[in-house]
Amino acid sequence: MVMKKIKKLVVGNWKMNPTSLSEAKTIATTVKRGLRNIKKTQVVLCPPYVYLSGLSHMPTTILFLGAQNAFHEPSGSYTGEISFSQLHQFKTGFVIIGHSERRAVGETDEVINKKVRSVIDEGMTAILCVGEKIHDVHGDYLALVRQQIITGLRDVSKKMLDHVVIAYEPVWAIGAKDAMAPADVHEMSIYIKKVLKDIFGVLADSIRVIYGGAVTEFNAKDIIADGFLHGFLVGRDSLKPKSFLEIIKVVEGK
Ligand code: PEP
Repeated sequence: MVMKKIKKLVVGNWKMNPTSLSEAKTIATTVKRGLRNIKKTQVVLCPPYVYLSGLSHMPTTILFLGAQNAFHEPSGSYTGEISFSQLHQFKTGFVIIGHSERRAVGETDEVINKKVRSVIDEGMTAILCVGEKIHDVHGDYLALVRQQIITGLRDVSKKMLDHVVIAYEPVWAIGAKDAMAPADVHEMSIYIKKVLKDIFGVLADSIRVIYGGAVTEFNAKDIIADGFLHGFLVGRDSLKPKSFLEIIKVVEGK
C-alpha cells in the first residue's frame, strides 16, 4: 500500500491550560520560532477558546490554530455554547471533535457526527478522536473503534476527506505514564486505514491518521517508525515548547 503524499501533522491539545493569556502567548511564540526549518509538517495549537483571539495573529502556512470543541448549530439559544462559524473568525483551521474527555461528559457518536459535518461545512478540518477505554484480549475494541469511525464520518462527502483527520487515542493511554506499545499503534493504524478504505475506497488516502496518548520526545520516534501514522495529538507535552518541538522534528524527519 503506498501512502499518498500529504502533509504530516502534530496537534497540541492544551486542554484547560495555561492559566493566562500571556503564558499562552509565550508558549505559542516559542513554538512558532522553533518551526523555521519545518516544511513537511503542519502544527496545530489548540488553546482554550478564550485565548484564540489573542493568538489569532499567529497562523502561518505551517502553524495553525485549532479549537478543542464547539457546538454544531450556527447560532441560537444555546447558553454557554460556541459555534463553528464563531470560531472561524479567529483564524481557527482545525477543531478537535469527540475527545474522550468530551465523550466522558456525554457526547455520543451521533452528536460527534453533527459536529464533524459542521466543522467541514465551515471550511475547517475536523480531528475526529476515536479510541477504546479497554484494550481487551478478545479484540472487542476493534468493533468499537470501527463504529466510532463509521458513525462519526456518516454523510461526510468523499470530496471533503482532506478536511478529516482521525486521531486514534486509546483512552487508557491519555494522561498515562506510558504510551501504547509501538507495535500495537502500528497494528491499529493499519486497521483504521482498512476501515476508512471500506467506507471511502481509495479516496480514504486523503485522511490523515495520527496517534495520541502519552507521546513524548522520547517515545515519538519508535511510535511513528512503522505503520500509516501521519503524526501525533499531544496533550501534556504540547505545553512544553522544547519537548513539543522535538516531537515535531521527529515527525518531520520520518
Ligand atoms: C490528549 O489529551 O489528547 C492526550 C493525548 O494527552 P497526553 O499526551 O497528555 O496523554
